[in-house]
Amino acid sequence: MQINRNFLELKDNYLFAAVGAKYRAFCKAHPEKDVIKLSVGDVTRPLAPCVISAMHRAVEEMAHAETFKGYGPDETCFGYPALIESIRGHYARRGVQIAAKEIFISDGAKSDLGNLLDLFSAENVVLIPDPVYPVYADTNIMAGRKIVFADANESNGFLPMPDGGVKADIIYLCSPNNPTGAVYDRAQLKAWVDYANRTGAVILYDAAYESFIRDDLPRSIFEIEGARGCAIEVCSFSKTAGFTGVRCGFSVVPQTLSRGGADLNRLWARRQITKFNGTSYITQMGAAAVFTEEGEKEISRNLDYYRGNAKIMTECLDGLKIPYTGGRNSPYIWMKCPNGMSSWAFFDYVLENACVVGTPGCGFGKNGEGYYRLTAFSTHEKTEEACRRITELLK
Ligand code: PLP
Repeated sequence: MQINRNFLELKDNYLFAAVGAKYRAFCKAHPEKDVIKLSVGDVTRPLAPCVISAMHRAVEEMAHAETFKGYGPDETCFGYPALIESIRGHYARRGVQIAAKEIFISDGAKSDLGNLLDLFSAENVVLIPDPVYPVYADTNIMAGRKIVFADANESNGFLPMPDGGVKADIIYLCSPNNPTGAVYDRAQLKAWVDYANRTGAVILYDAAYESFIRDDLPRSIFEIEGARGCAIEVCSFSKTAGFTGVRCGFSVVPQTLSRGGADLNRLWARRQITKFNGTSYITQMGAAAVFTEEGEKEISRNLDYYRGNAKIMTECLDGLKIPYTGGRNSPYIWMKCPNGMSSWAFFDYVLENACVVGTPGCGFGKNGEGYYRLTAFSTHEKTEEACRRITELLK
């Protein structure tokens, strides 16, 4: 038998493993030291009270034969109407009309980002920003696709724009970006949409961090005219509402999106009904509570908490006159390592001298070398203390 040899092309998941190994080794060698982790992209605030109540109610329904639920409704690929309608409302409040049949509930953005590739031939060329969330490259390496990288660097504000000389069939955009925190504005997204419509490419738009946007910037690619003809949006409740452990997300595949004579919405429905059996009813009811009036108020308290952490960190970097992107419309702060240090040299320096752990930027792509990512997902107390130590070290 033959295995999928493309898997052998993957690099070891060396970044987070190496960060974890260095962290553990340091803690073992210095058990007396209080090491603060600002490296993990996982949330720390608990679920909002209305989400908890909705999940409790759903558990109670599961306890009685009259209200018990088995598999979800197959006409919407197992998404319950309450959740689909709440997502439609979330878009409509921003002037974007999405049909119920265009929303596909998932167990999170990561699964869909990988699974959507089932719709496309392995012959397609993929365009991926560098640096970015490593899942885009790895899932395409597994499928044996050719990858072209779009350089994101200081000169383009970490927001690469279309290059007429590059031929790509699938284009990933991540805005707000992980790890740089950079966010595309409307004119920039319009340029990508026009490019994709002109060339016949499909944009896979990762909006996992859209809820962190507070300036007048697009939170969905469907705010851009023409996007319904070229884009799929992948979204998540993970960072918006603390669902990293609960697991719920959704993708929007427009019914107006066709390629190679095929309707991608129908293909995706066919794929999901074949390979997926839905997200649990209890989870979906919790997620449906997020986009209610009460839910929006409650989650904004958590988002403001993380924004407060981002402010503490950006003020610290401003004080040190260290260049960075992100922090205002994203939970990530992407700082330039001082004195031309490499990502790993700076990581070691800060760990050893300030007992703070960030993420070396080089793990997100070659353009990440010389950068370092901090996250706003810790507590105020730890963030303040980490910044005090970093200031002391670098001032
Ligand atoms: N997209 C980006 C850019 C992310 O950073 C993450 C998680 O860190 C995800 C998607 C995955 O989100 P989920 O928890 O919904 O799978």
